[in-house]
Amino acid sequence: MPADLAIVDVAIRTLDPAMPTAEAIAVKDGVIVALGTTAEVREACDASTRVLSGRGWHVTPGLVDGHQHLLMGAQIGRGINFDRVATLDRVRELLREERRRVGPGAWVRGYAFEYAALGGLEYHHSLIDDAAGDGPMLIHSLDVHTGFANAEALRIAGITGSREFADGAFIVIGDDGLPTGELREMAAIQSVWSHEPAPSAEDRMSWVVDAIRAQNAVGITGVHNMDGGRETLEALEALEAQGLLGMRVRQHNWVDPADDEDALADIVSRRDLHGRRWTANSLKFMLDGVIDTGTAWLEEPDTHGAGTDPMWPDVERYRRTIKRFHDAGFYITTHAIGDRAVREVLDAYAAVGSNGRHRIEHIEAPPPETQRRFATERVHASMQPVHMRWLNPDMSDPWSERLGIHRCRHAMPSGDIWAMGANVVLGSDWPVAPYDPRFGFFAAQMRRAHDVDDPRPVGESRALTGLQTLEGYTVNAARVDGGEGGVLRVGAPADLVAWGDDIASVSPDDVIDLPVHLTVVDGEIVHQSA
Ligand SMILES: [Zn+2]
Repeated sequence: MPADLAIVDVAIRTLDPAMPTAEAIAVKDGVIVALGTTAEVREACDASTRVLSGRGWHVTPGLVDGHQHLLMGAQIGRGINFDRVATLDRVRELLREERRRVGPGAWVRGYAFEYAALGGLEYHHSLIDDAAGDGPMLIHSLDVHTGFANAEALRIAGITGSREFADGAFIVIGDDGLPTGELREMAAIQSVWSHEPAPSAEDRMSWVVDAIRAQNAVGITGVHNMDGGRETLEALEALEAQGLLGMRVRQHNWVDPADDEDALADIVSRRDLHGRRWTANSLKFMLDGVIDTGTAWLEEPDTHGAGTDPMWPDVERYRRTIKRFHDAGFYITTHAIGDRAVREVLDAYAAVGSNGRHRIEHIEAPPPETQRRFATERVHASMQPVHMRWLNPDMSDPWSERLGIHRCRHAMPSGDIWAMGANVVLGSDWPVAPYDPRFGFFAAQMRRAHDVDDPRPVGESRALTGLQTLEGYTVNAARVDGGEGGVLRVGAPADLVAWGDDIASVSPDDVIDLPVHLTVVDGEIVHQSA
């Protein structure tokens, strides 16, 4: 049977050690059927084959973003984008513009709010009530771990004081005994967010489709999605049925500390659900919060005296729940940012015998003895070098200021953990950071963001090379379930990208604007530049 698509006259980097390069590739029914010279691949074609001649193209396996919140990002990303907004004056300007746009009484929404924009002030709704104008406002911090509400949103949600949550979430109370409008961690954010009018199902789906297409256009062919439950699986199923799921999704079901016996049993019942492009046999736990607000779980308190508590108030119950799902055959990951949280997760995995099945997300500043355990205990390290965009080498940012000089030396040690022999998976955590993997390529190699003035690297960890970065987004991402994907070889899934140059060796200065000519998922062209 002839191929249905062939790409010839290109430079292919397969990441398959048995045949590292090729100049042409052909696919049929979503699978690679030929790989080699242009002449060899043409033999797998006939007049019905769509043949693209791509002189100057550099083809790699498709990139997988190892940590994303696809559906949440599609929804949150509808309001004001505060990415790179650094002053309160500019925040107020954007709020005024948005209020004019949505009109009085409507919700003003925003996301990617950088803690540094507060200029060192504690958040209080009086700082922005005027600018947010006549109606409610809820803004999400860049890491989606903090919400900022105005006075009207607090009133609508009926929040007049502190509240009890099943996990470590809380409502910040000021010296006057009243809520300041700052909501720490998701359960607290939800207490206001749940009062926003819900978008229609059609709107929500079309936003997800937009987000998938935009990601295809920068070379992403798959994501590891890190939140959601049954409703997420229903959305993935519906998208696939309509031919709109233009990427592969490894869905991690969210396990909440508040989940009761019925909820846990319901999660187990979904383990084997899957589509052609999505799976549901992975789980996400969260053992701590973030360093910037003092909710990460640290071995020693931060410079404000915070960081002493986990998000699971009963850590023994966390361990029992890990064991239960491990025994049920799930792949497990846990958000662990603080050094104590990382150590506790490693201990919990060691107790069940991880066997290369489990992983940890973020791992922001563990000491070397903890870093080493990823390799020796075969726990995958899922890291996001692009998050160095909020750290300053002079340590003037909220993250560094909280941790102090000794712990900052170990900031974001992706290169060191790699060098110790662990499997490092790379991603963005979108909408926390932009999903564009080219930003990640720059940050992984330069240990800073591309759009900062200070050229010095962050922390003392070694950098990743361009080739390592490509592996982190491809073969390493495939390895989390023991798979050998992420390579281009005959018989492998046809997920690939054609770049304007070799992304594994191009200078980081040129990677940001590297053209993305073509993206193919499951043999289907999901992006082609004009
Ligand atoms: Zn995340």
